[in-house]
Amino acid sequence: MPKIEINKELCKSCGLCVKECPKKIIQIGSSINSKGYNTAMQTDDGKCTGCKLCAIVCPDSAIAVYK
Ligand code: SF4
Ligand code: SF4
Repeated sequence: MPKIEINKELCKSCGLCVKECPKKIIQIGSSINSKGYNTAMQTDDGKCTGCKLCAIVCPDSAIAVYK
């Protein structure tokens, strides 16, 4: 099953991955990293298709996708 890992320390809460995910399974969560940003989180890993759009669009390369 495809899965993603978000490196919370690299995330700056821009929301691009939230907009881009065709399954709408990424949100900005309540967890805050050491730089003070609320970080992205996946809400339903069972729906992830591994399309990699979230990783491609992330300007900080904070998302890794595993097929
Ligand atoms: S790999 Fe695709 S489906 Fe999975 S979280 Fe990223 S954008 Fe969404
Ligand atoms: S695109 Fe990257 S930096 Fe922006 S919210 Fe998503 S994980 Fe964070």
